[in-house]
Amino acid sequence: MIHRIQRLRHRLNEKGLDGILITQQENRRYLSGFDGSAGYLIISARKAVLATDFRYTEQALGQASCCEILRIANNLTDWFPALLDEMGIRKLGFEASDVSYHFYQQLVDALKRKGLEVEMVATSGLVEAMRAVKEAEEIEFIRKAAAIADGAYMEAAGLIRPGLTEKEIAWALEKATRERGSETLPFEIIVASGARSALPHAKPSDKVVEEGEPVVIDMGARYRGYACDMTRTVCAGRPDETFMKVYTTVLKAQEAAINTIRAGMMGKEADGIARGLIEQAGYGEAFGHSLGHGVGLAEHELPRLSFSSEELLQEGMVFTVEPGIYISGWGGVRIEDTVVLKDGRAEPLTRAEKLRL
Ligand code: ZN
Ligand code: ZN
Repeated sequence: MIHRIQRLRHRLNEKGLDGILITQQENRRYLSGFDGSAGYLIISARKAVLATDFRYTEQALGQASCCEILRIANNLTDWFPALLDEMGIRKLGFEASDVSYHFYQQLVDALKRKGLEVEMVATSGLVEAMRAVKEAEEIEFIRKAAAIADGAYMEAAGLIRPGLTEKEIAWALEKATRERGSETLPFEIIVASGARSALPHAKPSDKVVEEGEPVVIDMGARYRGYACDMTRTVCAGRPDETFMKVYTTVLKAQEAAINTIRAGMMGKEADGIARGLIEQAGYGEAFGHSLGHGVGLAEHELPRLSFSSEELLQEGMVFTVEPGIYISGWGGVRIEDTVVLKDGRAEPLTRAEKLRL
Protein backbone atom coordinates (compact mmCIF):
# COMPACT_ATOMS: atom_id res chain seq x y z
CA MET A 1 0.00 0.00 0.00
CA ILE A 2 2.93 2.24 -0.79
CA HIS A 3 0.77 4.97 -2.39
CA ARG A 4 -1.09 5.38 0.91
CA ILE A 5 2.15 5.54 2.89
CA GLN A 6 3.41 8.12 0.40
CA ARG A 7 0.34 10.29 0.95
CA LEU A 8 0.75 10.05 4.71
CA ARG A 9 4.38 11.16 4.34
CA HIS A 10 3.19 14.39 2.77
CA ARG A 11 1.02 15.03 5.79
CA LEU A 12 3.91 14.25 8.17
CA ASN A 13 6.08 16.64 6.26
CA GLU A 14 3.46 19.40 6.52
CA LYS A 15 3.28 18.82 10.25
CA GLY A 16 7.05 18.89 10.66
CA LEU A 17 7.20 15.29 11.90
CA ASP A 18 10.11 12.94 11.14
CA GLY A 19 7.87 9.95 11.52
CA ILE A 20 4.76 8.45 13.01
CA LEU A 21 3.91 5.45 15.14
CA ILE A 22 0.71 3.80 13.90
CA THR A 23 -0.96 1.64 16.50
CA GLN A 24 -4.64 1.83 15.54
CA GLN A 25 -5.60 -1.51 14.03
CA GLU A 26 -7.56 -0.38 10.97
CA ASN A 27 -5.03 2.34 10.22
CA ARG A 28 -2.22 -0.21 10.39
CA ARG A 29 -4.10 -2.48 8.01
CA TYR A 30 -5.01 0.37 5.66
CA LEU A 31 -1.40 1.50 5.31
CA SER A 32 0.41 -1.83 5.33
CA GLY A 33 -2.06 -4.50 4.22
CA PHE A 34 -1.28 -6.48 7.38
CA ASP A 35 -4.50 -7.59 9.07
CA GLY A 36 -3.06 -9.25 12.16
CA SER A 37 -4.18 -7.97 15.53
CA ALA A 38 -0.82 -6.95 16.98
CA GLY A 39 1.96 -4.84 15.58
CA TYR A 40 3.41 -1.35 15.33
CA LEU A 41 3.91 0.49 12.09
CA ILE A 42 6.63 3.12 12.13
CA ILE A 43 6.87 5.36 9.09
CA SER A 44 9.57 7.89 8.31
CA ALA A 45 10.31 9.83 5.14
CA ARG A 46 12.27 6.92 3.69
CA LYS A 47 11.26 3.82 5.56
CA ALA A 48 8.23 1.91 6.71
CA VAL A 49 8.78 -0.74 9.36
CA LEU A 50 6.18 -3.14 10.67
CA ALA A 51 7.25 -4.43 14.08
CA THR A 52 5.41 -7.50 15.25
CA ASP A 53 6.03 -10.59 17.33
CA PHE A 54 6.71 -14.14 16.24
CA ARG A 55 3.01 -15.08 16.05
CA TYR A 56 2.61 -12.68 13.15
CA THR A 57 5.98 -12.34 11.42
CA GLU A 58 5.23 -14.83 8.67
CA GLN A 59 1.82 -13.31 8.00
CA ALA A 60 3.35 -9.82 7.96
CA LEU A 61 5.98 -10.91 5.44
CA GLY A 62 3.21 -12.15 3.17
CA GLN A 63 0.84 -9.21 3.53
CA ALA A 64 2.89 -6.08 4.14
CA SER A 65 5.13 -6.12 1.09
CA CYS A 66 5.74 -2.36 1.28
CA CYS A 67 7.23 -2.61 4.77
CA GLU A 68 10.34 -3.97 6.38
CA ILE A 69 9.29 -6.54 8.94
CA LEU A 70 10.95 -6.38 12.32
CA ARG A 71 10.43 -9.28 14.68
CA ILE A 72 10.15 -8.00 18.21
CA ALA A 73 9.67 -9.36 21.70
CA ASN A 74 7.40 -7.76 24.28
CA ASN A 75 9.85 -5.33 25.77
CA LEU A 76 9.75 -1.91 24.06
CA THR A 77 13.14 -0.92 25.44
CA ASP A 78 14.76 -3.68 23.40
CA TRP A 79 13.77 -2.33 20.01
CA PHE A 80 11.83 0.94 20.04
CA PRO A 81 14.61 3.45 20.82
CA ALA A 82 17.11 1.67 18.56
CA LEU A 83 14.68 1.65 15.66
CA LEU A 84 13.84 5.36 16.00
CA ASP A 85 17.54 6.12 16.20
CA GLU A 86 18.30 4.08 13.11
CA MET A 87 15.43 5.76 11.21
CA GLY A 88 16.65 9.20 12.29
CA ILE A 89 13.38 10.09 14.00
CA ARG A 90 13.64 12.88 16.58
CA LYS A 91 10.07 14.11 16.36
CA LEU A 92 7.57 11.26 16.39
CA GLY A 93 3.83 11.54 15.93
CA PHE A 94 1.59 9.07 17.72
CA GLU A 95 -2.14 8.43 17.48
CA ALA A 96 -3.55 10.21 20.49
CA SER A 97 -6.97 8.58 20.36
CA ASP A 98 -5.47 5.09 20.29
CA VAL A 99 -2.48 5.25 22.65
CA SER A 100 -3.42 4.69 26.28
CA TYR A 101 -1.82 6.70 29.03
CA HIS A 102 -0.14 3.52 30.21
CA PHE A 103 1.34 2.73 26.80
CA TYR A 104 2.46 6.32 26.35
CA GLN A 105 4.38 6.09 29.61
CA GLN A 106 6.00 2.85 28.44
CA LEU A 107 7.13 4.50 25.21
CA VAL A 108 8.58 7.51 27.00
CA ASP A 109 10.19 5.26 29.57
CA ALA A 110 11.87 3.10 26.92
CA LEU A 111 13.34 6.19 25.25
CA LYS A 112 14.56 7.56 28.57
CA ARG A 113 16.23 4.29 29.51
CA LYS A 114 18.25 4.33 26.31
CA GLY A 115 18.94 8.05 26.67
CA LEU A 116 17.34 8.92 23.34
CA GLU A 117 15.81 12.37 22.99
CA VAL A 118 12.64 12.07 20.95
CA GLU A 119 9.80 14.55 20.99
CA MET A 120 6.47 12.73 21.10
CA VAL A 121 3.72 14.65 19.27
CA ALA A 122 0.04 13.82 19.63
CA THR A 123 -1.73 13.58 16.28
CA SER A 124 -5.33 12.92 15.54
CA GLY A 125 -7.26 11.70 12.53
CA LEU A 126 -4.40 11.77 9.99
CA VAL A 127 -5.02 8.30 8.59
CA GLU A 128 -8.74 8.39 9.42
CA ALA A 129 -9.15 11.38 7.10
CA MET A 130 -7.44 9.45 4.30
CA ARG A 131 -9.62 6.40 4.94
CA ALA A 132 -12.81 8.45 4.64
CA VAL A 133 -12.34 8.82 0.88
CA LYS A 134 -12.38 5.37 -0.66
CA GLU A 135 -10.42 4.08 -3.60
CA ALA A 136 -12.22 2.17 -6.37
CA GLU A 137 -11.14 -1.20 -4.98
CA GLU A 138 -12.39 -0.36 -1.50
CA ILE A 139 -15.77 0.65 -2.91
CA GLU A 140 -15.96 -2.68 -4.73
CA PHE A 141 -15.28 -4.55 -1.47
CA ILE A 142 -18.05 -2.62 0.30
CA ARG A 143 -20.35 -3.25 -2.65
CA LYS A 144 -19.65 -6.95 -2.26
CA ALA A 145 -20.33 -6.81 1.48
CA ALA A 146 -23.58 -5.00 0.72
CA ALA A 147 -24.66 -7.68 -1.75
CA ILE A 148 -24.03 -10.34 0.92
CA ALA A 149 -26.07 -8.43 3.51
CA ASP A 150 -28.88 -7.78 1.02
CA GLY A 151 -29.10 -11.44 0.08
CA ALA A 152 -28.99 -12.61 3.69
CA TYR A 153 -31.65 -10.12 4.71
CA MET A 154 -33.97 -11.07 1.86
CA GLU A 155 -33.51 -14.75 2.66
CA ALA A 156 -34.08 -14.47 6.41
CA ALA A 157 -36.59 -11.62 6.52
CA GLY A 158 -39.09 -13.80 4.72
CA LEU A 159 -39.15 -16.03 7.81
CA ILE A 160 -40.09 -13.25 10.25
CA ARG A 161 -43.49 -13.89 11.82
CA PRO A 162 -45.17 -13.44 15.19
CA GLY A 163 -44.09 -16.13 17.64
CA LEU A 164 -40.37 -16.10 16.87
CA THR A 165 -37.98 -14.59 19.38
CA GLU A 166 -35.61 -11.76 18.51
CA LYS A 167 -32.69 -14.13 19.09
CA GLU A 168 -34.09 -16.69 16.65
CA ILE A 169 -34.46 -14.03 13.97
CA ALA A 170 -30.96 -12.68 14.66
CA TRP A 171 -29.49 -16.17 14.34
CA ALA A 172 -31.25 -16.79 11.01
CA LEU A 173 -29.82 -13.51 9.73
CA GLU A 174 -26.34 -14.23 11.05
CA LYS A 175 -26.29 -17.73 9.59
CA ALA A 176 -27.44 -16.49 6.18
CA THR A 177 -24.84 -13.70 6.26
CA ARG A 178 -21.98 -16.07 7.03
CA GLU A 179 -23.18 -18.70 4.56
CA ARG A 180 -23.13 -16.09 1.83
CA GLY A 181 -19.47 -15.45 2.42
CA SER A 182 -19.26 -12.72 5.01
CA GLU A 183 -16.17 -12.68 7.22
CA THR A 184 -16.85 -12.20 10.95
CA LEU A 185 -19.79 -9.85 11.28
CA PRO A 186 -18.80 -6.19 11.59
CA PHE A 187 -21.13 -5.81 14.58
CA GLU A 188 -23.67 -7.85 16.47
CA ILE A 189 -26.97 -7.95 14.59
CA ILE A 190 -29.75 -5.92 16.20
CA VAL A 191 -33.24 -7.35 16.22
CA ALA A 192 -35.54 -5.26 18.39
CA SER A 193 -39.31 -5.66 18.46
CA GLY A 194 -42.21 -3.80 20.02
CA ALA A 195 -41.30 -1.32 22.75
CA ARG A 196 -37.70 -2.60 22.68
CA SER A 197 -37.29 -1.14 19.19
CA ALA A 198 -37.31 2.31 20.83
CA LEU A 199 -33.78 1.44 22.02
CA PRO A 200 -31.63 2.24 18.97
CA HIS A 201 -28.96 -0.34 19.94
CA ALA A 202 -30.98 -3.07 21.61
CA LYS A 203 -29.40 -6.54 21.79
CA PRO A 204 -31.57 -9.40 20.50
CA SER A 205 -33.41 -10.93 23.47
CA ASP A 206 -35.73 -13.85 24.19
CA LYS A 207 -38.69 -11.57 23.64
CA VAL A 208 -41.26 -13.07 21.29
CA VAL A 209 -42.34 -10.92 18.35
CA GLU A 210 -46.05 -10.10 18.61
CA GLU A 211 -48.61 -9.36 15.92
CA GLY A 212 -48.50 -5.77 14.65
CA GLU A 213 -45.21 -4.77 16.31
CA PRO A 214 -42.38 -2.92 14.63
CA VAL A 215 -39.25 -5.04 14.23
CA VAL A 216 -35.99 -3.15 13.68
CA ILE A 217 -33.21 -5.17 12.06
CA ASP A 218 -29.76 -3.60 11.88
CA MET A 219 -27.11 -5.77 10.27
CA GLY A 220 -23.99 -5.79 8.16
CA ALA A 221 -21.53 -8.01 6.39
CA ARG A 222 -17.79 -7.87 5.89
CA TYR A 223 -15.80 -8.63 2.76
CA ARG A 224 -11.98 -8.35 2.47
CA GLY A 225 -12.09 -6.38 5.71
CA TYR A 226 -14.71 -3.90 4.52
CA ALA A 227 -18.08 -3.54 6.20
CA CYS A 228 -21.51 -2.39 5.19
CA ASP A 229 -24.29 -1.29 7.52
CA MET A 230 -28.01 -1.55 6.85
CA THR A 231 -31.26 -1.31 8.81
CA ARG A 232 -34.74 -2.33 7.81
CA THR A 233 -37.91 -2.03 9.88
CA VAL A 234 -40.75 -4.42 9.24
CA CYS A 235 -44.07 -5.10 10.88
CA ALA A 236 -45.09 -8.57 11.92
CA GLY A 237 -48.72 -8.62 10.85
CA ARG A 238 -50.98 -5.60 10.45
CA PRO A 239 -49.37 -2.25 11.30
CA ASP A 240 -51.21 0.16 13.63
CA GLU A 241 -51.80 3.82 12.85
CA THR A 242 -48.67 4.98 14.70
CA PHE A 243 -46.55 2.60 12.69
CA MET A 244 -48.05 3.89 9.44
CA LYS A 245 -47.29 7.50 10.33
CA VAL A 246 -43.85 6.94 11.86
CA TYR A 247 -42.68 4.56 9.16
CA THR A 248 -43.84 6.80 6.32
CA THR A 249 -42.05 9.77 7.88
CA VAL A 250 -38.76 7.91 8.32
CA LEU A 251 -38.86 6.47 4.81
CA LYS A 252 -39.61 9.86 3.31
CA ALA A 253 -36.76 11.45 5.29
CA GLN A 254 -34.34 8.72 4.29
CA GLU A 255 -35.20 8.82 0.60
CA ALA A 256 -35.14 12.62 0.53
CA ALA A 257 -31.68 12.62 2.12
CA ILE A 258 -30.33 10.01 -0.32
CA ASN A 259 -31.75 11.91 -3.30
CA THR A 260 -30.59 15.35 -2.16
CA ILE A 261 -27.14 14.73 -0.68
CA ARG A 262 -24.41 16.10 -2.93
CA ALA A 263 -20.63 16.11 -2.83
CA GLY A 264 -19.49 19.41 -1.33
CA MET A 265 -22.20 19.52 1.34
CA MET A 266 -21.25 19.59 4.99
CA GLY A 267 -22.27 16.68 7.18
CA LYS A 268 -24.74 18.91 9.03
CA GLU A 269 -26.48 19.94 5.80
CA ALA A 270 -27.08 16.30 4.93
CA ASP A 271 -28.33 15.65 8.46
CA GLY A 272 -30.60 18.69 8.17
CA ILE A 273 -32.45 17.31 5.14
CA ALA A 274 -33.80 14.32 7.04
CA ARG A 275 -34.08 16.11 10.39
CA GLY A 276 -36.14 18.91 8.85
CA LEU A 277 -38.71 16.47 7.49
CA ILE A 278 -38.90 14.56 10.77
CA GLU A 279 -39.34 17.82 12.71
CA GLN A 280 -42.09 18.93 10.33
CA ALA A 281 -43.94 15.68 11.05
CA GLY A 282 -43.71 16.49 14.77
CA TYR A 283 -41.10 13.88 15.71
CA GLY A 284 -38.03 16.12 16.04
CA GLU A 285 -37.37 15.09 19.64
CA ALA A 286 -37.67 11.42 18.74
CA PHE A 287 -34.70 11.46 16.30
CA GLY A 288 -31.96 11.59 18.89
CA HIS A 289 -28.95 10.40 16.90
CA SER A 290 -27.13 11.67 13.85
CA LEU A 291 -28.08 10.89 10.27
CA GLY A 292 -25.08 8.76 9.48
CA HIS A 293 -21.43 7.80 9.72
CA GLY A 294 -18.68 6.63 7.42
CA VAL A 295 -18.24 2.89 6.83
CA GLY A 296 -15.15 1.04 5.69
CA LEU A 297 -12.59 -1.08 7.51
CA ALA A 298 -14.42 0.09 10.65
CA GLU A 299 -18.20 0.03 10.88
CA HIS A 300 -18.09 3.56 12.29
CA GLU A 301 -15.57 5.95 10.81
CA LEU A 302 -15.37 9.37 9.16
CA PRO A 303 -17.24 11.30 7.89
CA ARG A 304 -19.83 12.23 10.50
CA LEU A 305 -23.26 13.28 9.29
CA SER A 306 -24.49 14.92 12.48
CA PHE A 307 -26.38 18.13 13.19
CA SER A 308 -23.10 19.87 14.00
CA SER A 309 -20.64 18.24 11.57
CA GLU A 310 -18.79 20.64 9.30
CA GLU A 311 -16.93 17.85 7.54
CA LEU A 312 -17.24 18.11 3.77
CA LEU A 313 -18.82 15.20 1.98
CA GLN A 314 -16.52 14.28 -0.87
CA GLU A 315 -16.60 12.12 -3.96
CA GLY A 316 -15.66 8.55 -3.02
CA MET A 317 -16.84 8.76 0.57
CA VAL A 318 -18.95 5.86 1.80
CA PHE A 319 -21.39 6.51 4.64
CA THR A 320 -24.76 5.56 6.03
CA VAL A 321 -28.03 7.44 5.79
CA GLU A 322 -30.11 6.27 8.76
CA PRO A 323 -32.84 8.47 10.18
CA GLY A 324 -34.97 7.00 12.95
CA ILE A 325 -37.88 7.83 15.21
CA TYR A 326 -38.02 6.30 18.68
CA ILE A 327 -41.08 6.55 20.92
CA SER A 328 -40.64 5.30 24.45
CA GLY A 329 -43.22 2.64 25.33
CA TRP A 330 -44.31 2.13 21.71
CA GLY A 331 -41.20 1.34 19.71
CA GLY A 332 -39.08 2.69 16.90
CA VAL A 333 -38.43 2.77 13.20
CA ARG A 334 -35.02 3.16 11.56
CA ILE A 335 -34.13 2.74 7.91
CA GLU A 336 -30.46 2.71 6.95
CA ASP A 337 -28.47 2.28 3.79
CA THR A 338 -24.78 2.44 3.07
CA VAL A 339 -24.20 4.80 0.14
CA VAL A 340 -21.21 5.97 -1.91
CA LEU A 341 -20.79 9.49 -3.26
CA LYS A 342 -20.33 8.93 -6.96
CA ASP A 343 -20.53 11.59 -9.66
CA GLY A 344 -21.49 13.95 -6.87
CA ARG A 345 -24.57 12.02 -5.74
CA ALA A 346 -25.37 9.32 -3.21
CA GLU A 347 -25.64 5.88 -4.75
CA PRO A 348 -27.05 3.22 -2.41
CA LEU A 349 -24.83 0.16 -2.04
CA THR A 350 -27.22 -1.77 0.21
CA ARG A 351 -30.37 -2.37 -1.76
CA ALA A 352 -32.47 -4.89 0.17
CA GLU A 353 -36.18 -4.33 -0.32
CA LYS A 354 -37.88 -1.88 2.03
CA LEU A 355 -41.38 -2.24 3.39
CA ARG A 356 -43.78 -0.12 1.29
CA LEU A 357 -47.04 0.81 2.98
ZN1 ZN B 1 -26.61 0.03 11.38
ZN1 ZN C 1 -25.05 2.75 11.15
